[in-house]
Amino acid sequence: MSTLRREVTNLNAETRKMKIICVVCPISCNIEVTLKGDEILNVKNNLCERGKVYAIEEITTPKRMLTTTVNVKKGHILFLPVKTATPIPKDLIFPCMEVLKDVIVKTPIHKGNVIVKNILGKGINVVSSRSVELMKI
Ligand code: SF4
Repeated sequence: MSTLRREVTNLNAETRKMKIICVVCPISCNIEVTLKGDEILNVKNNLCERGKVYAIEEITTPKRMLTTTVNVKKGHILFLPVKTATPIPKDLIFPCMEVLKDVIVKTPIHKGNVIVKNILGKGINVVSSRSVELMKI
């Protein structure tokens, strides 16, 4: 996700303030988090608790949905759009892409089918974003 969502101000050698725009709902609160080293001292400007949870997670263990494509064998399209069933830690995005670049699926595929179960042993499934029929010759 874009670094535009974050703005860091160093208050002193140990303490810094981060501004994060909450993306949980359209209100887009501009949340301010104060940290001392890795310790979160304060979260403010969030209108609700969900924003606090989001801001803390965004700082400590940011997650993203992975969307990409895998190869299709004998389908009416060459590449199948896939996504992780849930957001995954950002540092798993490229290792997952490495796995998915070698995946070739056989048709027919239905939207929501599990394409890779428990990728990297992390308990995350990669699912199909659309259906693909067997190519008729
Ligand atoms: S803090 Fe709450 S109200 Fe504000 S954007 Fe996040 S979810 Fe919406």
